[in-house]
Amino acid sequence: MAGLYIHIPFCRHKCAYCDFFSSAGNFQYMERYINSIMTEWDLRRSEIDKDHIKTLYIGGGTPSLLPFSLLAELLSHIDQTVCLSSLSEVTLEANPEDISSENITNWKTIGINRISVGIQSFNPTSLSAIDRRHSPQASRKALSLLSESGINYSADLIYGLPGQTLVGWEMELMELLSYRPPHFSSYLLSYEPGTRLFALKDKGLVIEATDTIAEKMFEILCHRADEAGYNHYEISNLAYPGMEAKHNSSYWNYTPYIGLGTAAHSFDGKLRRFNPSGIKKYIESLDNAQLYYQTEDETMENRFNDYLITSLRTAAGFSIPLAQSVFGDDIADKFMHNLRKSVGTGEIDCIFDHNDKCTGYRIPRHKWLTSDAILRELILD
Ligand code: SF4
Repeated sequence: MAGLYIHIPFCRHKCAYCDFFSSAGNFQYMERYINSIMTEWDLRRSEIDKDHIKTLYIGGGTPSLLPFSLLAELLSHIDQTVCLSSLSEVTLEANPEDISSENITNWKTIGINRISVGIQSFNPTSLSAIDRRHSPQASRKALSLLSESGINYSADLIYGLPGQTLVGWEMELMELLSYRPPHFSSYLLSYEPGTRLFALKDKGLVIEATDTIAEKMFEILCHRADEAGYNHYEISNLAYPGMEAKHNSSYWNYTPYIGLGTAAHSFDGKLRRFNPSGIKKYIESLDNAQLYYQTEDETMENRFNDYLITSLRTAAGFSIPLAQSVFGDDIADKFMHNLRKSVGTGEIDCIFDHNDKCTGYRIPRHKWLTSDAILRELILD
């Protein structure tokens, strides 16, 4: 199995908390950018067996603001090699204001079968604190349209927002759950260096949620999601059973993927590489049929740490057979020393098969939110 990711770096404006590579405006480059992606795909499609590709994810940025004709041209080009109708997931990230009956219908006709919508909050004060420009009304309308259309979808909601109370968070969460989204992602607001929100916090103009509040919000999330029948399969991802995101799951279980576009990452099962950030440079490079990427120089320990960090934030946890198949029995055994030592401390549990054999490790869910400290003890130097 393998995945294909396409990065669309255009947004209407830059939200205060955002550290994804995206550019406000610059729409004059859209057409050339899409042509460059098609060129990159043509140059790289032999890197992967097309029959192995099972998911396509178009993220950003705000891919939903691409003119329909451009998006259709891009998908039709990919469809010439990878039959989109045979993929289990073709996801488009969308902002609420771009969700309309007409757009959903159009997107379906070109092979999109899943929408990921950035709701983030239903509270106008919280939305304005992180400088999201859509209104709660736009979110409500988008969720109603998505639910009525029958398309598979996911919604994002953030907790720990400036000024958000425990009661306020619970009400927002319950409002989202009232739409019964097949999948939702719920993130603790993160203050990333370089963002406007980080600068505001530095100046004391915004106050970060305390660890205690964040943990209580996480408890509310766990409780309400359990009650509503969701499978909490990763620290920030929840789904009705069977509706777990296939594309994102592949990032946590060592599945290869190709990333197209500026700032996109790729992984061939051994090596990671990434396309540097820069719309104009990306276009100029592909205009000359030159691939625009850098390879990440990773040691075995780095690769093991990557797998450790991502897998231990999932319910499925760290798989010993997978580690042995990737690193070899002897190296995996040596690298798992810290994991074995931590069993019994209450921070790491063994996963047993039906013969009572330990086949993996996991962090108990109530510790996921504080997993950074646990992981620091486990990662290899
Ligand atoms: S819309 Fe999304 S990608 Fe664009 S700036 Fe806001 S958070 Fe970032």
